Amino acid sequence: MTDHTPSLHLVPPTEGAPAPATGSAPAQSVLLPGATLGVLGGGQLGRMFAHAAQAMGYFTVVLDPDPVSPAGLVSHHHIQTGYEDPDGLARLAALSDAVTTEFENVPAASLAALAGQCPVAPAARAVAVAQDRAQEKAHFVRCGVPCAPYAVIETAAQLAAISGDLLPGILKTARMGYDGKGQVRVATPAELAAAWDSVGQVPCVLEKMLPLALECSVIVARGADGSVVNLPVQRNLHRNGILAVTEVYEQNLPPALAQQAVAAAKSIATGLHYVGVLCVEFFVLQDGSLVVNEIAPRPHNSGHYSQNACDVSQFELQVRALAGLPLVQPRQHSAAVMLNLLGDLWFAHGDVAHTPPWDQVLALPGTHLHLYGKTQAKHGRKMGHLNITAATAEAARATALQAAALLGIAPF
Ligand code: ATP
Ligand code: MG
Repeated sequence: MTDHTPSLHLVPPTEGAPAPATGSAPAQSVLLPGATLGVLGGGQLGRMFAHAAQAMGYFTVVLDPDPVSPAGLVSHHHIQTGYEDPDGLARLAALSDAVTTEFENVPAASLAALAGQCPVAPAARAVAVAQDRAQEKAHFVRCGVPCAPYAVIETAAQLAAISGDLLPGILKTARMGYDGKGQVRVATPAELAAAWDSVGQVPCVLEKMLPLALECSVIVARGADGSVVNLPVQRNLHRNGILAVTEVYEQNLPPALAQQAVAAAKSIATGLHYVGVLCVEFFVLQDGSLVVNEIAPRPHNSGHYSQNACDVSQFELQVRALAGLPLVQPRQHSAAVMLNLLGDLWFAHGDVAHTPPWDQVLALPGTHLHLYGKTQAKHGRKMGHLNITAATAEAARATALQAAALLGIAPF
């Protein structure tokens, strides 16, 4: 049960009141439990951040316009305004000792405005790089980490000058894409021109379609002191452009490749002077080479297994990085599989939504259900995830396949 009532002894600041002093140290130093941590955005990532922060004794503030946002529902304070509302942002800054974000499309200008009033991590300029595929790719190039061959398309002249080497390719809008949205696969110059029209001729990147063997990701956390820790490399399966399954255990990837991915993720974070949790997504090509896909300036769906399989979760890392607490290298203690629970599972028996058989799923050993408190299931909507932990990879996979069968998730 979530306790919405703040403790009698550790009362969080009321709106409008100055944030409490948390010692005589300067603003960027350690914020001990009892301080208030703010998050811009009220989705499931914000909810799990709030849970982790509260477990450690912090108070939380969420800014999100939705009155029933997953994070707003569990936070001590919920400021219900738009992400660009100056009053809402000022209230967030007044209540919070430090602020983070939970989705990358948060206006970088809002983060910059907040940064004038309280500590903000990650910084607006790092989030701005992750928000724009053209800037993101330029950063990969600067860090010496290979990415897919690409070209920026902002004008008709750039479109006309596209080299045939990039086709077949994927046209991706430079901004605001997620879960495969804002992407069109194109095979010919005519298809490319039609695709650019179909997205409204907004700035895009065209990426060469690569022969993928598999996809993986790495979560790193970097502190203001430059220390960097990482979670083990996640092997990811996407379906219809949305993450479906993450598997993390020894030998989920060739060890040399995993080491290369961790080193690349750390150099990408360090190159951004990043503070906070960062996810770096990679492709492994059929020739065995590693190519970076994109970054997310926050915890990531592929890191959710860490809640039950590691001694420090990605959300605790986010709290530690924001509060300036020491970052310790997490240790994975169980093999893990994560199944994403999309709204589709509620419609396994037709058009009327039915609650999936959680009781049967939870009868399986090592299953951990995480639901985000969304009242309405919709196709493609992320409703929750199921973590499966076990002593061995084989056991985790076997249980995960049983759970998948009960839920109507295709085998993997
Ligand atoms: P999300 O934010 O959910 O991770 P997204 O909308 O930002 O996704 P991408 O990660 O760019 O999209 O791409 C979605 C998926 O499409 C990838 O995980 C991969 O399966 C496939 N894909 C993307 N780019 C390429 C490419 N250049 N070659 C082959 N497959 C690709
Ligand atoms: Mg992606």
